Amino acid sequence: MRLSLSTSSNRSQFAVPSELKTSPQTYVHTRVTNSQPYKAKSRSVTAESRLRTKKHLVRLAREINNNGLADKITNCHSRIALLTCGRHVARMMPNHTCEFRLCPNCARRRARKHFNNYLPKVSGFVRTHRVTPVLLTLTQTHRAETLEHSVKRLMSAFRKLIRRGFWLEHFRGGTWSVEVTKGKDGLYHTHLHLLAFRSKFFDIKLLRSEWLAVTGDSVNLNLKPILEDVPGGLREVLKYIAKPLDIERFTAQNLRDFLGIKNMRFFGTFGEFRNFCADFVPSDNDKSELDGLARDLVEGCACPHCQEPLFEVRMSDNELPDFLRKIEESARSKSPPG
Ligand SMILES: [Zn+2]
Ligand SMILES: [Zn+2]
Repeated sequence: MRLSLSTSSNRSQFAVPSELKTSPQTYVHTRVTNSQPYKAKSRSVTAESRLRTKKHLVRLAREINNNGLADKITNCHSRIALLTCGRHVARMMPNHTCEFRLCPNCARRRARKHFNNYLPKVSGFVRTHRVTPVLLTLTQTHRAETLEHSVKRLMSAFRKLIRRGFWLEHFRGGTWSVEVTKGKDGLYHTHLHLLAFRSKFFDIKLLRSEWLAVTGDSVNLNLKPILEDVPGGLREVLKYIAKPLDIERFTAQNLRDFLGIKNMRFFGTFGEFRNFCADFVPSDNDKSELDGLARDLVEGCACPHCQEPLFEVRMSDNELPDFLRKIEESARSKSPPG
């Protein structure tokens, strides 16, 4: 009798009714959470992290005796000319760009270009199509397989998913980008990040069973509606263009694997949104929202942030993070409180 009582009290104390259990994958949990606003790190912090990534990449390239690649990356953004007022940086001009896909400096420029290109299209699509943009992350089980196979397996499941009746009934296309990380198990963990346009509400369990049907063994996905911050949502997906692989954790062999698949795409659009993009003509209003103005600035122009005159400073990539830190400090100390 006592035993049964204690068992039942244990149960009531520790067991959580299944309908209250939430995991990062459940819709109950994610639908009440706003989409994560894009958190801009300070320029000095990102410059530092890019420099670190660049040095790691150069080291890996030397390890696999690809000195041509190592030199190319070393030379990229090795000297930078800045236009500054002393408190803000209005423009950065590198001496050289290498265009290597994993180069953190070039990848960042590419991501920004994509952002400027797709933001008017995404906003236009949402405005004209009665859809809710959602961030959807699709993941697959980890297997001992090559990088190329891991990406192909995921993309093949994704292509099957978006052809199915359930998907076509509830979504009207979107953008996708691939991210590859490396697990503690040493295996490639490949994810697909979508900015998808949902036209009809559904129970997340149904989407999960659809994903299981096309992968054969995966139910892991995460869906997060973008309630307000559409640019933030787009950045969230496009950041994987700037960082398709978590390079800092990669080994020489990982770089070798990546070089073997250089023609594979890591970003694209699909479905109705893809057709919409093909026909889209940005309005003057769209163009004015984008940050393309910096290109016209020269020494002596007024700083766009404070109207003080801009002057040019030149430095090496090694000196850049410290310089930016000083600029940020002086902007903080001289700006009015609040
Ligand atoms: Zn580069
Ligand atoms: Zn300024």
